[in-house]
Amino acid sequence: MFHVSTGDILRAEIAKKSPLGLEADGYISTGRLVPDKLVLALVKERLSTETRGLLFDGFPRTVEQAEGLDSWFSGRGQTIDAVILINVKEEEVIKRLSTRRNCTGCGRIYSTFSSPPAKENICDACGKTLMIRGDDKPEVIAKRIQVYKFQTEPLLAYYRANGNFYEADGGPPPEEVAEKIAALLNNKP
Ligand code: AMP
Repeated sequence: MFHVSTGDILRAEIAKKSPLGLEADGYISTGRLVPDKLVLALVKERLSTETRGLLFDGFPRTVEQAEGLDSWFSGRGQTIDAVILINVKEEEVIKRLSTRRNCTGCGRIYSTFSSPPAKENICDACGKTLMIRGDDKPEVIAKRIQVYKFQTEPLLAYYRANGNFYEADGGPPPEEVAEKIAALLNNKP
C-alpha cells in the first residue's frame, strides 16, 4: 500500500517554500488545521494517477474532508476498506509529542523518553542531528489537542455510523500496536 501522510506532504511543501507550503505554514506552526479545500485539492492532485491501495495517515481530519474523500472515491469506483482509530490518552499524547525528536537527515523518529538515540541528539541510522518539530512546542501541542476535540473528534461518529470502523489501543509500544492492528484487519469480515 502507498502511505499517504498529509502532514508529511505539507511539511515537504513548506521545505520547498512553494506557494501552498507558505500558506500551510501559518496554520501548521500555530496548531490549526490547513483548510479543507487546500488539503482535498492536494490529496486529489497527488493521487490522481496512483493505482496502489492507499493508507491515509492524518487524513481525513474533518467531516468535510471525509465527505470530500467519499465523493472523490465514489467517482473513481473506490471504497474505504477500514478506518482505524489509534486511541491514546491525552496525557500520553502530550508526553509523546513533547519528547519527540526527528532526524533532519532520514526522518527517523525518536523519543527522549522511550527510545532515545545512543548518542544525544544524533541519529543512530544516518548520523545527522535531531530536531524538534515547530508544532511540538507545549503551547502548540495544547492548541492541536483543542483543534482535535472540536474538528476531528466528530469524525468518529461519522465513521462509526458507516461501518468498517476499528479501534486499537495506542498505549503500548509501536510494534505491539502494529501487531494488534494487523490482527484486526486479518480477522475483518
Ligand atoms: P501531522 O504530521 O499529521 O501531525 O500534521 C501536522 C499538521 O499538519 C497538523 O497539525 C495540521 O496543521 C496539518 N495537517 C496535516 N494533515 C492535515 C489534514 N488532513 N487537514 C488539515 N490539516 C492537516
